[in-house]
Amino acid sequence: MTFDLRTIYAMTAVACVVLGMFQCAAYVTGRFERWLAWWSASNILVGIGSFCIALRGFAPPLMSVQLGNVLTIAGCVLLPVSMRVFVGRPVSLLHCCLAIIVLGLPFVSIFGASDASLERIAYGSVIYCLLDLVVVWEAHRLVRDEKLYSAELAVGLFVLTAAIHASRAVMAMTGFLGGGNLFSAGDTAHAWVALSAMVFLTLRSMVIMLMAAERAGNQLRTVAHADPLTGVLNRGGLVSSFPALSPRPLAVLLIDIDHFKQLNDTHGHAMGDEVLRAFAVSASNALDGEDLIARHGGDEFVIVLKERSLEQAVAIAEHIRLAFTASLCRLGDRLSVLPTLSIGAAAETSGPSELEALLHMADQALYARKRQGRDGVDAFGGSVLAA
Ligand code: GH3
Ligand code: MG
Repeated sequence: MTFDLRTIYAMTAVACVVLGMFQCAAYVTGRFERWLAWWSASNILVGIGSFCIALRGFAPPLMSVQLGNVLTIAGCVLLPVSMRVFVGRPVSLLHCCLAIIVLGLPFVSIFGASDASLERIAYGSVIYCLLDLVVVWEAHRLVRDEKLYSAELAVGLFVLTAAIHASRAVMAMTGFLGGGNLFSAGDTAHAWVALSAMVFLTLRSMVIMLMAAERAGNQLRTVAHADPLTGVLNRGGLVSSFPALSPRPLAVLLIDIDHFKQLNDTHGHAMGDEVLRAFAVSASNALDGEDLIARHGGDEFVIVLKERSLEQAVAIAEHIRLAFTASLCRLGDRLSVLPTLSIGAAAETSGPSELEALLHMADQALYARKRQGRDGVDAFGGSVLAA
């Protein structure tokens, strides 16, 4: 089967413009950030550029050679720009315009002659390959920093298109693409390369939307699992994060702030909120990376400690209790009611742990502590260990 190269250029033009318009329409809805406007502009520019090139032989060289290639290169420069904006890194409009001028200039000067097709293809392909590699670099940061798995797909696709551009450059330089004008003789190899480039160009536009969807899903999950006041996990977050730890032996601390109601009544809810935040910060600082802290409701918090014995859990609880008292000093003389912590500790040291069972044991220890006068740590199945 043979493909006509001019038809492929025209099909690429239509595909890019249609994709660009769709992306533009999606951006206008206000549901997406600025990166989509850049990506849309890139597609539209590459589309118009390809259309101009497809008119080679029918339209004047100014349009089908110089304008077509400069627009295509401008579109390709906007791709790394869009990816940078997606990653959240700064973009300079001035640098962007300079890159387009510097990279586009050879198309109107050194390689501007109508019969310099092979030189233009070689030069353009090297530049497109390098720009695709910049996108690969930016997408790789997303995989590394944001754990965005669809960005791995983007890395794969852009590596592929970079390889296609590189092989096209080599083919042009070695005379494998034939000679003379772009659409002269039935150039099957070139047509295949252009066809595969068109397919991957379309797929790349889809993968960026996939990345946006995955990021939105992640952000939604984070918000749904966080307590908005203190920033620690909420109950739902605790339940969904617990299974990752549960195959190992765990300890649990159930913590209730003493006299919190009295604090609210005396100093107002805003001060109560500040005390809750102070607790969350001081407790979080006492934990390891994989330990969990969650607001169980009201003034009650749960801490899950990975691979700790009951004695270790009690020592951590005591540390948290003292750190909380110290953190209240920062609120200065404003507190006439000084809240303290009652903590119940429980541990499952022999095997897989059930959250409900651990919480039930810690709850019993907590209420034993409350009955015995608050401000201290009790361990389930043991006597008062610290107070
Ligand atoms: P105890 O010493 O027995 O623990 O009693 P307590 O005064 O701490 O009272 P209790 O734990 O029964 O009540 C918790 C209070 O926390 C009741 C509620 O008004 C208050 N509260 C719940 N959520 C919030 C919140 O988000 N902000 C503030 N400021 N107060 C809250
Ligand atoms: Mg309380």
